[in-house]
Amino acid sequence: MGQRYSKKMLQRLRNDIPVDFVIADLLKQPNKISEGYFRFLCPNCGEFNTAVNPKTNLGRCFSCEKNFNPIDMVMSVKTYSFTQAVEYLMTVARLN
Ligand SMILES: [Zn+2]
Repeated sequence: MGQRYSKKMLQRLRNDIPVDFVIADLLKQPNKISEGYFRFLCPNCGEFNTAVNPKTNLGRCFSCEKNFNPIDMVMSVKTYSFTQAVEYLMTVARLN
């Protein structure tokens, strides 16, 4: 893994793009609001036993116990490599 992307850029992708926006608007991954939480279909195990924490900007699956930041989410839903996911988010967020 080279230093193709600055730490600052990766930090922006992880923190500044709301993960619920990535899930619902970019990836069109099935989602719903229940009990005040934004929940999504886990791309790893296919369960809906999930929630998004806006403070950490992470999606969490309680069934497979996986956390997803925006980059992880794109990698899992679109079966992209890390590099492909970063390029995708940079393009949609117009950060490049
Ligand atoms: Zn899961």
